Amino acid sequence: MQFRDLKKQYSVLKDEMDQAILDVVASSAYVMGPKIKEMENAFAEYVGVKHCIACNSGTDALLLALKAWDVKPGDAVFVPSFTFFASAEVIAMQGATPVFVDVDSETFNMDVRDLLYKIEHTIKAGELKPKAIIAVDLFGLPADFKMIRAIADRFHLYVLEDAAQGFGGRIGEHKACAFGDISTTSFFPAKPVGCYGDGGAVFTNNDEWAALIDSFHIHGKGSDRYDNVRIGMNSRLDSLQAAILLVKLKAFKAYELEDVNKVAARYTEKLHDVVKTPVVPKGFYSSWAQYTIQVPNKEVRTKLQEALKANDIPTAIYYPIPMHRQTAFSYLDPKTNQCPVSDHLADTVLSLPIHPYLSEEDQDLICNIIKIAFNS
Ligand SMILES: *Cc1c(COP(=O)(O)O)cnc(C)c1O
Repeated sequence: MQFRDLKKQYSVLKDEMDQAILDVVASSAYVMGPKIKEMENAFAEYVGVKHCIACNSGTDALLLALKAWDVKPGDAVFVPSFTFFASAEVIAMQGATPVFVDVDSETFNMDVRDLLYKIEHTIKAGELKPKAIIAVDLFGLPADFKMIRAIADRFHLYVLEDAAQGFGGRIGEHKACAFGDISTTSFFPAKPVGCYGDGGAVFTNNDEWAALIDSFHIHGKGSDRYDNVRIGMNSRLDSLQAAILLVKLKAFKAYELEDVNKVAARYTEKLHDVVKTPVVPKGFYSSWAQYTIQVPNKEVRTKLQEALKANDIPTAIYYPIPMHRQTAFSYLDPKTNQCPVSDHLADTVLSLPIHPYLSEEDQDLICNIIKIAFNS
């Protein structure tokens, strides 16, 4: 069994996908070109945001946002500890200081009470200038943007939505990638909408930031192609990936997002009496980048993983080491970066196979093995 069955997806999309790929190959417009504009327009329209700038990865997308805001040494950026490394890595790449915020044990997303505490503590310490909040839509569920926005406004902070896993999620009628002052996503193959390699995008309604990001992602280009006006990066999306993403977005809109939600609902129905199943707050809609259960402790988790593995069922631990425990961040003060819920989750979470093409038979097998493991 596959954790995320991209082969199955390709077999369903094959005819249209092969044609889209061959068209780009035949066109010889491999870098930039019309496919990029078409893709950016389609993604901006889906999200409901004015500008989409395609780039080379979700990590670059985050970095480009911080560059547009000139995040620099002396700045504090608040980020959840329970996330993928890139969410925090980009802060340090800009020479700024990450301040780790704990997460909510039900939603896995930024705990707004701890956010408030960490901001106030940073101000009181007086060494860093609070600049921005990076809120992550972990496992596909949008963060609590109503509260995060209120806190950001109170302290005059920018909100950066890391929707690398969140594309397709919603709060009410508002879509993920539209909640931040700038929002970003990733098209890494295993994300809710993935390409066939690395890719990412930045979303914003702000014309000035969009122009800056457009410049930064192509060597700090100015209006004269060979007069570069700032130091930038080489972070374009390939035209091939743009063509692939247009086919993927169509399937995502037509049925994949709905189908993956059916798979998640079925897991919850079958497992909620056995393990702690993921919580989707009222009015929220997830894109289920992961379906993550919680078990009592690490020993139980290891045994459960082994039982599933013995039946050819892959599982994953997202994430075994929270950011405040990463070796690369050991230079930060551990006292001001405590995140006990993240520590607990690192030992108790387990992500199960999930994707729009998971069959009911495979899902029943997974659920039965988990039930047997817990004698229920
Ligand atoms: C995958 C991911 C990223 C980075 O995306 P890449 O395209 O792999 O660079 C950033 N943040 C989160 C939360 C992610 O899951």
